[in-house]
Amino acid sequence: MSTNPKNTLNFSGGPGALPDVVLNQVQQAIINVPEVGLSILGISHRSAWFENVVRETENNIRTLLGLPADYHVLFLQGGATQQFSMVPMTMLRGKKHPAEYFDTGYWSRKVITEAMREGPVRVIWSGEKAGYRCLPTEEELDFSPHAPYIHYVSNETVEGLQFDRIPGRDDVPRVCDMSSDFLSRPCDAGKFSLIYAHAQKNIGPAGVTIVLIRDEVVQNAPRNLPAFLDYRRQVETHSNLNTPPVFAIYVVLLVTRWLLRDIGGLENMAQINRQKSQLLYRMIDGSDDFYRNWGDTAFRSDMNVAFTLPTKALETAFLDQAAEAGFSGLGGHRALGGVRASIYNGLTLEAVETLTQFMDDFRTQQRRQ
Ligand SMILES: *Cc1c(COP(=O)(O)O)cnc(C)c1O
Repeated sequence: MSTNPKNTLNFSGGPGALPDVVLNQVQQAIINVPEVGLSILGISHRSAWFENVVRETENNIRTLLGLPADYHVLFLQGGATQQFSMVPMTMLRGKKHPAEYFDTGYWSRKVITEAMREGPVRVIWSGEKAGYRCLPTEEELDFSPHAPYIHYVSNETVEGLQFDRIPGRDDVPRVCDMSSDFLSRPCDAGKFSLIYAHAQKNIGPAGVTIVLIRDEVVQNAPRNLPAFLDYRRQVETHSNLNTPPVFAIYVVLLVTRWLLRDIGGLENMAQINRQKSQLLYRMIDGSDDFYRNWGDTAFRSDMNVAFTLPTKALETAFLDQAAEAGFSGLGGHRALGGVRASIYNGLTLEAVETLTQFMDDFRTQQRRQ
């Protein structure tokens, strides 16, 4: 039984709902981490205990992804947004050939704006004209072998569009913003030079960003960057250059334990996430156009289900009644409007069933009027 039924129905786009078992452990740790006898909020980031927390979290991520040995796992601050700049500072500054970015939605646009401050950027595909409702197929992409790297967003959180393949060519370094689908499914991380993902959608609270970076990228990084923004310094200090977000990293540890022990790995997590999204998409597809999916069927996301209703008034009524029924976080992103159900790892299949039932009831009620 859930300790907090309303939290169970939290479909927030981010920070997202976390599993009940994790919340219960966090509650305990705020008062007293049993092994230490102190509150998690007051444990030194230089303590042996915290060193072990970082080591276990890193190992859990390595195990979950099958990460090759030549990658570093970093726990940084500044959110995904800081990575929008750290990546081009490290890999693009002073380069002649442009880095190649995909423009697939709201977050892509933000990434591109920041990269352009650091060096030449070529947008090799844009969904803007089509209203960001689809993603590129491999045939639509024309990569240059000279690009310092390609960058894409694996899951466009606002529009609800997700890649179900790894685009690009293996001889050009790949960089990916996986903020909204990291550890939600298996990922062949060895195909990337750098992956970044903040914790607050699928694997923890805001405050920590996971970076998986190939050693080669670290070796080739410029030597004149501010220490805080220098992956090399972060690697050398094991993400302990300054006071790291101890609490956020600890919660990520608990979530990775949950993924390994309770869920049984990323194949299982992906299967559950797929079941959840399919429930909603079946409801939408079978609604005679009452509910309309934002994205094209071929690219829709297992993490964010974005849809509209026939009128703004109906959308408002839907969101009002949903709030009354105990749901929260269903309003679409302020950039897009409409409705968005974010169904990250921590959200249960039962919660999605409850939402699907609510959507069915709402449609039936409207048809009777
Ligand atoms: C939410 C989100 C971001 C923003 O991350 P911050 O941690 O707030 O900087 C970036 N990229 C994607 C794909 C997101 O979903």
